[in-house]
Amino acid sequence: MITLPDSLGAIATAVGEIRAGGTDLQERRNSGVSRGPVVDLQDLDGRDLVSISPEGGLTVGSGVLIQDLAEHPLVVQGYPALAAAAGGLATPQIRARGTLGGNLLQRVRCWYFRHPDFACLKRGGDSCFARAGDHAEHACFDTGPCIAPHPSTLAVALLCEDATVTVRRSSGRDEVLTVPELLGDGSDPRKDHMLLPGDYLLSVDLPPPVTGDRGGYFRAIRRAHAEWPLIEVAARIRLGPDGRVSAARIVVGAAANRPIDALAAAAALVGKAPDDSALLAAGALAAKGGPTVEDAEWKARLIPGSVLEACARALAADGARAFRVAPVAPDAPGATP
Ligand SMILES: Cc1cc2nc3c(=O)[nH]c(=O)nc-3n(C[C@H](O)[C@H](O)[C@H](O)COP(=O)(O)OP(=O)(O)OC[C@H]3O[C@@H](n4cnc5c(N)ncnc54)[C@H](O)[C@@H]3O)c2cc1C
Ligand code: SF4
Repeated sequence: MITLPDSLGAIATAVGEIRAGGTDLQERRNSGVSRGPVVDLQDLDGRDLVSISPEGGLTVGSGVLIQDLAEHPLVVQGYPALAAAAGGLATPQIRARGTLGGNLLQRVRCWYFRHPDFACLKRGGDSCFARAGDHAEHACFDTGPCIAPHPSTLAVALLCEDATVTVRRSSGRDEVLTVPELLGDGSDPRKDHMLLPGDYLLSVDLPPPVTGDRGGYFRAIRRAHAEWPLIEVAARIRLGPDGRVSAARIVVGAAANRPIDALAAAAALVGKAPDDSALLAAGALAAKGGPTVEDAEWKARLIPGSVLEACARALAADGARAFRVAPVAPDAPGATP
């Protein structure tokens, strides 16, 4: 059965798995891994709006297409790492169909999980077939019972940009979550995110861009197109007047069952001239992500070079520019005297 809600209230009462672009869900339904009713969002207007928030940040509707996110002038102007990540993921066809919300909430791409005959931990079973089987391209860091890398490139970039998300709970209440709160800590192998049935991801909220912040994204891949990353890195760097790093953020994806906020690596850059040796040293710190998974350990060796490349791209790019926020007229409703 397919329900086509045309309001947020109708979503809360509709029963079934939400379908946005369908590029993840439909593949699971075709293989028989996902069954049951579908709640298709095609009749819900206003999902694809992008607007400047009163604080001077950006509110991006969960239905914005990945391709539009990559090309939106305000995203390009304010959040270069996010624009580059959105423009670099998957294929042009997927980016033209897949949505921001669907990307954040997609299920893992582990070949055992997506095969109808393997009821692994993620499907409520009692074993992880990848650990005993083929996991050479799974997570290199063993951070949870499930060792499938978290699939969302946009989660990596949004964590780097310090974004939050607004969720409309089935009770009708709106809740603001950080990216780690949305994804959870990975300790429950059944969950790729923390939303419950009936919850709806309304929007992603980005803080005001900081003028001069530079952002970059790099993915290590086996072939030029249509490939999942072996390792991906989003980086944000701010330079002081002396040309040294005054602030940095480095987030590594495809390495663990959640994006890794490489805090020690970012802290190591502060105060340094951002030359190759400083960037590689930061990358080496990011590669110390804890115990490794045997056959995927080799992926950790891709991290230093990927950090170097993401940071070099950030440094070569134009700095972000803050948005002009329209002043509120003194007699406007809600204006403070
Ligand atoms: C060859 C290939 C390469 C790929 N490479 C990458 C890559 O490098 N990086 C990457 O990130 N992805 C990659 N993908 C995956 C692709 O980006 C996702 O399939 C896509 O982003 C999902 O978006 P969608 O709108 O189609 O989601 P859907 O399939 O519609 O939904 C996905 C999930 O999100 C839930 N959902 C969707 N919207 C909402 C909402 N608003 N509220 C609550 N729940 C919601 C659905 O119920 C479903 O469970 C690749 C896919 C392929 C086939
Ligand atoms: S890695 Fe995760 S999804 Fe894959 S078999 Fe193990 S528990 Fe299942």
